[in-house]
Amino acid sequence: MITLEKLTKVYGHGDTAVTVLDNLDFSVAPGEIFAVVGPSGAGKSTLAQCVNLLERPTSGSVVVNGENLSQLSEAQLRAARRRIGTVFQSDGLFSRRTAAENIALPLGYLGVTRRDSKKRVAELLDRVGLSARADYFPHQLSGGQRQRVGIARALALKPTVLLADEATSGLDPESTTSITSLLKELRDDLGLSILFITHEMQTVLQVADSVARLDHGHIVESGRVVDLLRDP
Ligand code: ADP
Ligand code: ADP
Repeated sequence: MITLEKLTKVYGHGDTAVTVLDNLDFSVAPGEIFAVVGPSGAGKSTLAQCVNLLERPTSGSVVVNGENLSQLSEAQLRAARRRIGTVFQSDGLFSRRTAAENIALPLGYLGVTRRDSKKRVAELLDRVGLSARADYFPHQLSGGQRQRVGIARALALKPTVLLADEATSGLDPESTTSITSLLKELRDDLGLSILFITHEMQTVLQVADSVARLDHGHIVESGRVVDLLRDP
């Protein structure tokens, strides 16, 4: 479960202050895909950075499973980041490492034993449908497959929340569908809370249970996707 409480981000001071996120309030329940959609400049990247704790909110909070992450020290933040898996637009894979090695990286940082790591990586490859590609390098994989490796890596530390930041932007329609199907499987099988940030309304309709429209840092509309579709 992830909840944003009056999340506000202001850049600059005094006369030059710009409110990029203004009092955002919403929750993503376990087993829910919640989309935030908006045009360029709406505040989506800033929101993503506040959620994955790369930026501190100016005021308000990000709460994960009851814990207010906005009040943590730097050391506590490092541990808290493990509870949030992040998938980026560019897959962010290391080009000189295989799919399996890329997925194993977060486990390595935690000092998981080789044996446990191998087992976990095999499970994750299976979960994203890439068991046969374990030893491929990123350039030997399609864009959709690389993104699935990125998702497996984001899941390595068993987060309860998955942040997908423009995770399908730049993919062709077929690869986009393979990613949205995988996210729905993860939602259903693992009960993840998935926050899906995008500028593509088409993809929101494919993947999300709920959606909030962000414009100039404000949520201008929100609701269940089925209701949007029923009454356009
Ligand atoms: P989006 O991802 O929806 O395109 P951003 O979060 O990148 O939106 O940007 C939202 C607004 O915040 C833009 O007007 C942008 O210029 C401004 N902004 C983003 N980062 C900074 C920053 N570090 N300093 C000042 N303004 C910023
Ligand atoms: P265990 O605690 O024995 O790993 P679980 O019932 O928690 O069993 O998980 C079942 C399967 O799903 C296991 O393969 C586990 O590694 C995987 N799994 C559980 N939660 C997550 C998560 N949040 N992200 C990725 N994989 C997960």
